[in-house]
Amino acid sequence: MVKVIRGDITQLKVDAIVNAANNTLLGGGGVDGAIHRAAGPELLQACRTLGGCRTGDAKITPGFALPATYVIHAVGPVWHGGKQEEDALLSSAYRRSLEVARENGIHSIAFPSISTGAYGFPIDRASKIAISTIRDYLHECKSVMEVFLVAFSEGDFQIIKQILERDPA
Ligand code: ADP
Repeated sequence: MVKVIRGDITQLKVDAIVNAANNTLLGGGGVDGAIHRAAGPELLQACRTLGGCRTGDAKITPGFALPATYVIHAVGPVWHGGKQEEDALLSSAYRRSLEVARENGIHSIAFPSISTGAYGFPIDRASKIAISTIRDYLHECKSVMEVFLVAFSEGDFQIIKQILERDPA
């Protein structure tokens, strides 16, 4: 099941929230900064032990002071116009997050809109990739995981909602 909700991902009481992290995993702006602030300094300590993360991959830590039990740090691509494997790398960031979630017995997971902020990936294209990757994965694994797409703005919420409704699973 995949659903869109509007809000602040740091407030969600789910098994895992996904962070739109960068390769260093040492914190940044946007949703990454918000997650680190809400989780407290222990999150950065935990991230320091992970040795970074490749673009398209994901790594897990506890959620510390967050309502969520875990944080899955996923690294999406920077948008360079679409000819540098951006679609495949974005899809991989979602898929790897779901694989890591499954390995850790996670039943509910919330994603921000990876790469569509500072990294500049167009929201419509990114949302279609996110939704098809998640649906394919759940189908393949016969998984009943609850997956939430968290839109931070009303505009993003409407775009994601329309894509979900246009092509219902
Ligand atoms: P990236 O570098 O991967 O583009 P950003 O953090 O800049 O990551 O943006 C990713 C998305 O996260 C954007 O849509 C941004 O509006 C959104 N975002 C920022 N803060 C939050 C938050 N607290 N909860 C949910 N989404 C957020």
